[in-house]
Amino acid sequence: MAEPKITVVGSINMDLVIGTDRIPRQGETIIGSGYSTFPGGKGANQAVAAARLGGYMTMIGAVGNDSFGKELLRNLTLNRINTDAVTVYEHEKSGMAFIMLSKRDNRIIVSPGTNHLVDKHLIKKHHEIISASDVLLLQLEIPLEAVMEAATIAKQSGVKVILNPAPYRSLPIELLNQVDYLTPNDQEAERLLSEIDDPSKIEDKLVVTKGKQGVNMFDHKKCITIPGYDVEVEDTTGAGDTFNGAFAYWIAKGDSLEMACHKANAAAALSVTKKGAQSGMPTMQQLDNFLA
Ligand code: ATP
Repeated sequence: MAEPKITVVGSINMDLVIGTDRIPRQGETIIGSGYSTFPGGKGANQAVAAARLGGYMTMIGAVGNDSFGKELLRNLTLNRINTDAVTVYEHEKSGMAFIMLSKRDNRIIVSPGTNHLVDKHLIKKHHEIISASDVLLLQLEIPLEAVMEAATIAKQSGVKVILNPAPYRSLPIELLNQVDYLTPNDQEAERLLSEIDDPSKIEDKLVVTKGKQGVNMFDHKKCITIPGYDVEVEDTTGAGDTFNGAFAYWIAKGDSLEMACHKANAAAALSVTKKGAQSGMPTMQQLDNFLA
C-alpha cells in the first residue's frame, strides 16, 4: 500500500535553549552555559514525527528569509517533508522560542514571527494540497482563522481532520464540528470539556494523552484506557507532538482508532527516552524493534 498523504498546517519555529544553574531574578544578569538551537514548532515537530514513520508529508506554513528560516526549511527537507507550500517572507523574522532551562525549572517566551502571517488567504492558495490528503493535522500555534479555513476545506473534500488543541485556547463549536479527532492532553481536555455546553457532542472525538499514564480514547461513549509504557525517561519535550504525528500516520493508513492510539502511544514513549523533541522521534524500524 502507498504511504499515506498527510498535510500539516501549522507552526515552524527555531528553539533557542540556554542552560542555566538557576533562573535569574528580576533585573539580574547571570552567566549560563552554552546555548543550542533546535528546529521546533508544534506543526513542524508533528510533521517530522509522521515523516519518520514513512508518511508522505506536506507542510503548509511560513518562515522568514533569515538564517533561522533557511535552517528550518533545510531541516524539513532533510526529514523528507515537502516544503513547496511553506511561504518564505522576504522581510519578516521566522518564529522562535527562547527557552531558559535549569535542572528544576524552565521559562519560555515564543516570538511567533511569520507563524502569525499564516492566514486564511494563504491556506486558500493551497486548498488543492489539503483536498488531496488522507489526513489534515492541525494545532493552535497559528491564527485560528487559518486553522478553521484548513478544516473547512478538508471537511468539504472528505479528508479526515485531527486537531491537537495546543497551546490551548477556547474554540468555536463550528471548528469542533469539522474535526474528526481532538487530541488534547489532560489539562487541555479539562478546559475544553468545561467550555462546551454539551460535552457528549465531542466525547467520541476525544483522544486524551495523559503523560506516562498513556492515553484515554472513547468508543460509543465508553472510555478505553491504553496504559503508558514504563520507559527510562530522558526528556519528555515533544512527547505530545510525537504522539500526534504518529496518530495521524496510522489514522491515514486506515488503522482503527484503538490501534492508532496503541501504536502512537508506543512511538511517544520511545521519544521520551532520548533528548530533544525531534531527535527522539522514532523511525518505523526503531518502533518495530521496541514493540517486538
Ligand atoms: P509535551 O507538551 O511534553 O510534548 P503533552 O502534554 O502534549 O506533552 P503528554 O500527555 O504529556 O502530552 O504525552 C503524550 C504522550 O507521550 C503520552 O500519551 C504517552 O504516550 C507519551 N509519554 C509522555 N510522557 C511519558 C512517560 N513519562 N513515559 C511513557 N510515555 C510517555
